[in-house]
Amino acid sequence: MSLPTHMKYIIIGAGIHGLSTAYHLAKELRTKRRGSGRDILVIDKTAIGAGASGIACGVIRNNYYQPAMQELIAHSVDVWEEDAEGYGYLPVGYMQISPECMHADVADIHGRQEDIGYDSKFIEGEKDCLKYMRENVFEDWQAKNVTSILHEKKGG
Ligand SMILES: Cc1cc2nc3c(=O)[nH]c(=O)nc-3n(C[C@H](O)[C@H](O)[C@H](O)COP(=O)(O)OP(=O)(O)OC[C@H]3O[C@@H](n4cnc5c(N)ncnc54)[C@H](O)[C@@H]3O)c2cc1C
Repeated sequence: MSLPTHMKYIIIGAGIHGLSTAYHLAKELRTKRRGSGRDILVIDKTAIGAGASGIACGVIRNNYYQPAMQELIAHSVDVWEEDAEGYGYLPVGYMQISPECMHADVADIHGRQEDIGYDSKFIEGEKDCLKYMRENVFEDWQAKNVTSILHEKKGG
C-alpha cells in the first residue's frame, strides 16, 4: 500500500490513544465544517493494536494512586455507561482485597473516591473482611491476612 505524500493531520501509533484521538479529531473537524476523517492518517510501525492496547485485560477500575487518574477514570466510566451494550461493558464492579501492608494506601484511595462521589465501600479489619466476603461474594471464602477490601460498585 502506498502512503499519501501530503496529509493535514498525522497521528503516530494505532493504539487506543491514537485511534481515540483520530476519532475525536474527525468528529470535531466535521462539526466545525473544517474537514473529516479523510484529512487524518493514523500510522503504526507494526499494526493496529500492536502495543499495550492489543493485550490489555479489559478491566475498568478506579483504584489508582494518582488523584488525577481517579477523576479521569470516573469520567471514563460515565462514557462506558452511556452505551454499555455497544461497548461490551459489563459493570460487575471491582474489588481490591489487600494485606495489611497496603491498608493505608487503599484507605487514601477510598477517601479520594468519596471526595469525588465515586461509589465504593471500604471494609477494614480481618474479621470484617472475612465476613464481608462470605456474606456478599463467596460463602466458602477462606483467604487469610486480608485486612482491607475496597469494593468499587462501578467498573468491571
Ligand atoms: C498486559 C497489560 C494489561 C493491561 N490491562 C489493562 C486493563 O485491564 N485496563 C486498563 O485500563 N489498562 C490496561 N493496561 C494499560 C493499557 O493497555 C494501556 O494504558 C493502553 O493500551 C495504552 O494505549 P496507547 O495507545 O497509549 O499505547 P499502545 O497501545 O502501546 O499503542 C502505541 C502504538 O504505537 C506504535 N508505535 C510505537 N512507536 C512507534 C513509532 N516510532 N512509529 C510508529 N508507530 C509506533 C506501537 O506499535 C503501538 O501500536 C494494560 C497494559 C498491559 C501491558
